Amino acid sequence: MTDLAARIDALGASDPGRPFLITPAGRAVSYGDLLAETRRFAEGLTSLGVAPGDRVTAQIEKSPEALFLYFGCLWLGAVYMPLNTGYTPAELDYFVSDAEPALYIHDPAATPPKGVRTLTLSAEGTGTLMDALPTISQLPRADLPESAQVAMLYTSGTTGRPKGAMIPRRALATNAASLAALWRFTAEDVLLHALPVFHVHGLFVSTNTVVAAGASMRFHAKFDAAAVLADLPNASVLMGVPTFYTRLLQAPDRLRDATRTMRLFISGSAPLLPETHDAFAAMTGHSILERYGMTETQINTSHPYEGPRSPGTVGVPLPGVEVRITLPETDQPVPHGETGMIEVRGQNLFTGYWRNAEKTAADLRADGWFITGDLGHFNADGQLVIVGRGKDLIISGGLNIYPKEIESEINAIPGVIESAVIGVPHPDFGEAVVAVVVGTDVTEAEIKAGLTDRLARFKQPKAVFIADDLPRNTMGKVQKALLRDSYAQLFAG
Ligand code: AMP
Repeated sequence: MTDLAARIDALGASDPGRPFLITPAGRAVSYGDLLAETRRFAEGLTSLGVAPGDRVTAQIEKSPEALFLYFGCLWLGAVYMPLNTGYTPAELDYFVSDAEPALYIHDPAATPPKGVRTLTLSAEGTGTLMDALPTISQLPRADLPESAQVAMLYTSGTTGRPKGAMIPRRALATNAASLAALWRFTAEDVLLHALPVFHVHGLFVSTNTVVAAGASMRFHAKFDAAAVLADLPNASVLMGVPTFYTRLLQAPDRLRDATRTMRLFISGSAPLLPETHDAFAAMTGHSILERYGMTETQINTSHPYEGPRSPGTVGVPLPGVEVRITLPETDQPVPHGETGMIEVRGQNLFTGYWRNAEKTAADLRADGWFITGDLGHFNADGQLVIVGRGKDLIISGGLNIYPKEIESEINAIPGVIESAVIGVPHPDFGEAVVAVVVGTDVTEAEIKAGLTDRLARFKQPKAVFIADDLPRNTMGKVQKALLRDSYAQLFAG
């Protein structure tokens, strides 16, 4: 297992001039710089009183310094805890009281929570944190066990408050090495990085894979379709959420040329519609590679690099990762091909939820299997198909209904762009199926008529709403909980 800090140490010393990242504005950071900055941040944090195991919380804008802070924590064995920049002051108070960080880093423009030592770091790489760093450092890398916790990422569950997933060193190291090999990364690869760095996708899956391969990045502050299109000719790989691809498809005249020299497009964090996969393939000749992961596990499955990248599936388990399907609420595997709860086991897993033994025991079995909360099955080719979150399952009149099956049928109706199917309380059925549809010139009656011969009666929506768009979070996930709230009273009384 090559630890990521060890990798930075080795590359920075042996090949200091090798590029690590370049921003669209032309700021360049080499592996030599990365090693020097990682040490500087680690020593600075140490001098501020941060010890191995301490949490360092950061609600900051994306910048190269945000990565140095993360790697600085890894270097000294502190626990890096990035927070979504969208969190409100009330939420920040909760995170600080729950995690008890030794240090809290924030944007100079933001108001920090009380009761914690705070320093600032701006998107331009300035602030009181920078002032506290030494000019140069030779701090040696901490020698820590593989099981040492090095990061904590909060994830919102079905109920209750967000929980801190404790992530060990080995999970980062093994996942990065697996992905670099699986996706054929070499030192020549240039990843176009346009994801936020407070989430597992932009922080770990993207950045760690690049470091594992000794590759480099075009480092964009955010996803801007025009800026990404303009920069794709300088890159070889793009990692994105599905929204990246639907937005890129809106510039069809430039897309084909811009993607000509690309090697690989990867999608994850939310389901990529088969229609998007097909449209992108038709337009560019590239078959988007889909992978499936989450905060607690990083990446579990991926389409093969060679061989079919079948739309609607998320591929096969990574080497060293086991995936099984169980009858929900039990540990009994279902017969092959049947839908059930997706469970995962391997070195990629978190070690538990921070100060939450109850939730840890509920989701992480004693024999190492993690109950993901996602429902799915293996198809005849052995590829995993996700049918939705467990909490999105609709039970109407005692019958289980998987929203994805209905969404797929609706999406096939001419004029439909996308849809979200939810269950809302119903006095007779317990829950009733409701569809929210985004389309061009498509009506409620056309949707209902289009489903009559396609779906059993109990699966047909009791109500269909046409909307301008679906509510999404920053990672492109459709927020079904919001939709359920909006339509909760539909059948009341
Ligand atoms: P997060 O912890 O924010 O990364 O969210 C993880 C969840 O995103 C998973 O449990 C899945 O429900 C969903 N997810 C991630 N990747 C995919 C994918 N390729 N297809 C469908 N859902 C996905």
